[in-house]
Amino acid sequence: MEEYVSIHGDKWKISDINEQIEWAREQVWKKQKWLPRAALVSKGKTSEYVGQSYRPEYTRLVEDGWSHDHCEICWWSLYETDNPESGVGYTTDGRTWLCSECYEKFIVPKA
Ligand SMILES: [Zn+2]
Repeated sequence: MEEYVSIHGDKWKISDINEQIEWAREQVWKKQKWLPRAALVSKGKTSEYVGQSYRPEYTRLVEDGWSHDHCEICWWSLYETDNPESGVGYTTDGRTWLCSECYEKFIVPKA
C-alpha cells in the first residue's frame, strides 16, 4: 500500500520524496526571507552569479536576476513576496531551500 502526503494541497507519494527528506534531515536549516540574487544573463539563458568569471561583451550581470528557487522536496517556488508561504523558507546556504510546509512536516523533530 502506498503512503501519500499532502503538500500545498497536492498529493505526493512518500516513496517519491523519501530520498530528499532523508537528505534534508541531515542538513542544518535556518529560517530566512527569500530575496533575489545576482545572475548572469546571456542569450536568454540565466545562471546564478556566484563570482565566476564571465565575458561582459556576451553576458550581462543582473543584480536581482535570480528571481526564485524551488523547494528541494516538493519543488514549490520561493520568491520575493510578502506572502510567507512563498516568501519565507528554510535554507542551508542561501541557495538551497525548503518551503516552510516541507520543513515543518518532515524536518522538525516530532515531540
Ligand atoms: Zn516543499
